[in-house]
Amino acid sequence: MTDLMPPPPALGCRSSPVLKQRGQREVFCGLTGIIWLHRKIQDAFFLVVGSRTCAHLLQSAAGVMIFAEPRFGTAILEESDLAGLNDAHAELDRTVQQLLARRPDIRQLFLVGSCPSEVIKLDLSRAAERLTQEFAPKVRVLEYSGSGIETTFTQGEDACLASMVPVLPTTDARELMVVGALPDVVEDQMLSLLADLGIGPVRVLPARNIDSETAVGPNTVFALTQPFLGETHAALERRGARHLAAPFPFGEEGTTAWLAAIAKEFGVSDERFNKVTEAPRRRARQAIAQASEPLHSKSVFFFPDSQLEIPLARFLTRECGMSAVEVGSPYIHDALHGPDLDLLPAGPQISEGQDVDLQLDRCREARPDLTVCGLGLANPLEAEGLSTKWAIELVFTPVHFYEQAGDLASLFARPLRRKNILGMAAE
Ligand code: SF4
Repeated sequence: MTDLMPPPPALGCRSSPVLKQRGQREVFCGLTGIIWLHRKIQDAFFLVVGSRTCAHLLQSAAGVMIFAEPRFGTAILEESDLAGLNDAHAELDRTVQQLLARRPDIRQLFLVGSCPSEVIKLDLSRAAERLTQEFAPKVRVLEYSGSGIETTFTQGEDACLASMVPVLPTTDARELMVVGALPDVVEDQMLSLLADLGIGPVRVLPARNIDSETAVGPNTVFALTQPFLGETHAALERRGARHLAAPFPFGEEGTTAWLAAIAKEFGVSDERFNKVTEAPRRRARQAIAQASEPLHSKSVFFFPDSQLEIPLARFLTRECGMSAVEVGSPYIHDALHGPDLDLLPAGPQISEGQDVDLQLDRCREARPDLTVCGLGLANPLEAEGLSTKWAIELVFTPVHFYEQAGDLASLFARPLRRKNILGMAAE
């Protein structure tokens, strides 16, 4: 198969100097990931071991379900737990026993660490081992940290998936594993494209339930759908799997490049690749052209938040006619972000980590047409007359692959349209 990667710009950003700052930062904690993970993994329960603040965050972010039993909850650490007056392990065991007795549908239980559980050094890995022994084979108990002591909210999904990798069964089969939680409808579109290309068997991590669980081994090749899975990437490599580096599947170009990297690995002919992708590529290009009209010649500034910033900057600059002023990401991982940095035309300041006050100064000075940032920064910046887009919305909305490419452009166009309408109304 010939190389179907999009042509790189004369000079990309892979070797651009990176501004690295560590200071105050403005992000949600990793518990946020439970909101989409509990919908994705349908036989799992996420038990946060945390405070009332953690429970409140989850409750308000996920909404209250009145029609079904929720698949997440909080084992509240009371003051006496924090003061070390109670045996927190015994209390946790009791809570888990009650939960599993009441909910026989639970096959995977994630104990999720929080700031308070980490501060009192509650050893959840020991608890998970002990509880696995007690409840195996019916229930598998794993643990990971979702605490705000980590840097950003998408690390919650990364930590969750990374916790699953060591317990995946071993296989010697040559298989493709696609890694990253996608909405079911988007995952089905992707699986259908891969099937039409004749690529298989394809496994997904996370699987929708433990029975269709994926295995891993030295003949597994894996592709990531989310750019925030650095820890999971390392865990899979430790199991012998090989990463297929590619731009992330956002927009027409990103999706084509992502599919092309996999197609090349599996020896798919150019003819078949073009036949399968031609129609959806055309639809994606048309949808982007229509939705991105307000974005043409506009500037964008990314605060580091979701870790989607680099591939999205690539999409906005190459497919939507924007220019990037600064592209900030909590972490930059060459193996994951390198292919997107290659395609991102040189020019923007690439920054890693955050000192929020210094970054706000740079943003105010640049006065970008659109600022992509966390919820905490958006309202103050709007009050200063800047248009903003909440980074978290990009994780909650289906935005991957061809059929969502137009919606992705629309998400960025909406604040600019709104500003125009308000401007016209004020005249
Ligand atoms: S884990 Fe930490 S940051 Fe997140 S809600 Fe709980 S206390 Fe707050």
